[in-house]
Amino acid sequence: MNSRRKLLKTLASLPFIGSFTGAKAVENTLFEAPSTLAGRDFFKELGLRTFINAAGTYTSMTGSLMPKEVTDAINYGATEYVNLDDLQDKVGERIAELLECEYATVSSGCFGAMSIAMAGVLCGNDTEKVKQLPNTEGWPNEVIIQEGHQIGYAQALTNVGAKVVLVKTAKDLEKAISKKTVLLWYLNANTENGEIKWEEFVSLGKKHGIPTFIDCAADVPPVSNLFRFTKMGFDMVAFSGGKGLRGPQSAGLLLGKRKYIEAARMHTPPRGETIGRGMKVNKEEVLGMLAALELYLQKDHKKEWQLWEEQIELISNSAQAIEGVTTEIHVPPHANHVPSLRIRWDQNLVKITPNDVRKKLREGHPSIQTVGNSETIGITTWMMAPGQERIVAKRIYDILKEAV
Ligand SMILES: *Cc1c(COP(=O)(O)O)cnc(C)c1O
Repeated sequence: MNSRRKLLKTLASLPFIGSFTGAKAVENTLFEAPSTLAGRDFFKELGLRTFINAAGTYTSMTGSLMPKEVTDAINYGATEYVNLDDLQDKVGERIAELLECEYATVSSGCFGAMSIAMAGVLCGNDTEKVKQLPNTEGWPNEVIIQEGHQIGYAQALTNVGAKVVLVKTAKDLEKAISKKTVLLWYLNANTENGEIKWEEFVSLGKKHGIPTFIDCAADVPPVSNLFRFTKMGFDMVAFSGGKGLRGPQSAGLLLGKRKYIEAARMHTPPRGETIGRGMKVNKEEVLGMLAALELYLQKDHKKEWQLWEEQIELISNSAQAIEGVTTEIHVPPHANHVPSLRIRWDQNLVKITPNDVRKKLREGHPSIQTVGNSETIGITTWMMAPGQERIVAKRIYDILKEAV
């Protein structure tokens, strides 16, 4: 048994609250740098520290960890040649069947899905236009977005030559529609910030014959979202592959109407004279994405949710054991819809700032990444390995206790 697993086992066997002093000695002797099964520890060789991810699916933290079924699929893909277009055709069909939608393709992340979908809508099946992107001068090239749905990621749309038109109300939206309008774009995460909700948005698209797209990058769980929006009538729906789905971080899913996905594919490799050539996904990511999706669909989501709740409660309870500390468990309504924890405290009683706590967590052994701001520490457990919540709970407790 390696020392990390030994520690987890030891911590798991300890009665939790009140056992911190005992656990402390254990921790000090047992933590070492993690080693890999294959023998070569690349991150250590490179002088990089790995960490417990108590933050969430952040690109800067390399997203999520892939289950063995996914890495097996990737390794399998690396051993044989296959025709790339044929592979995408077959996997597209397979995913469409699994998700009960018309068609699908594996993209380079949700951002890549947005770019190729936008490019497809701009060019249709005009191969001459495909070569000209991002120059769309004189073409219909406008994408309509609600003001409350504005986000930096919309650069995926403007990168390929679209012009963003912002609207507030349904009335504004209808007024903004012209011969130049090619797409209506919706950001699921910001649903609460926009006046026009899903069904109305879709019906406005249908009424005016303009395709609709929904960015659902961080919107599993719930698993139902993988089906909900294509069935609702959105023409295109995009997910990140390496967030809740735990597929390759550089992959994503574009689901929806065949004609739009086929148009999007015209911009992707193996085709070279395209805006999407740099957004390549090869067989390894395509198979990894498929395996991750299959695994996700088979998962016991209720059980997983219960585990997350228990983990969050454990961390919450241990922090609350310190006078002056209060916690709040919440679930964001859309995007990163998982049990989440905010920890705050009276800094007259616990004399340390949240920024300093985050720094101590990051710089400690093992390193722990959290989020938050100048008032709170923010935690989720869905990207952790089971058992790590005990280490996180104990470290937070120790750091706060030390500041009393
Ligand atoms: C993460 C995210 C993206 C980008 O997705 P990638 O899979 O990293 O390309 C786009 N939109 C939203 C709302 C996101 O959260």
